[in-house]
Amino acid sequence: MKVTRLAAENLQCFCGAPATLRDSSVIYGKSYGPAWVCSRWPECDGYVGCHPGTNKPLGNLADNRTRAARKQAHSAFDHLWKSKGIRRTDAYRWMQKVIGLTSEQAHIGIMSREQCETLLKHVLPVLRGETRLPGR
Ligand SMILES: [Zn+2]
Repeated sequence: MKVTRLAAENLQCFCGAPATLRDSSVIYGKSYGPAWVCSRWPECDGYVGCHPGTNKPLGNLADNRTRAARKQAHSAFDHLWKSKGIRRTDAYRWMQKVIGLTSEQAHIGIMSREQCETLLKHVLPVLRGETRLPGR
């Protein structure tokens, strides 16, 4: 799978301010490694964590509501393909189609709250057994 490369040096918050690499203890009061935090923090609550052991951001900066939507969409989506025996690559292809994304954009870590909600709207009925994935 192609991984979207984010130029961390030019990483920007959704508010337009640049992001700076800081220790996550500024967010959580306890360190979980580095995080990219909005330079307007704490006035702006934009931040994103890093891939374990690196300074590479997990996605783009998000506010609390977007982070919650991504978390919810991610767990439902992972549950979908794991529980239905769908190959991960097929599941991602399906996601691209239902949300209208390119393969570059099909990463929950960079999706907007609206896109996460659209994904959930498609995933939940399949999980509940009310509908099937097309072509299955
Ligand atoms: Zn910001």
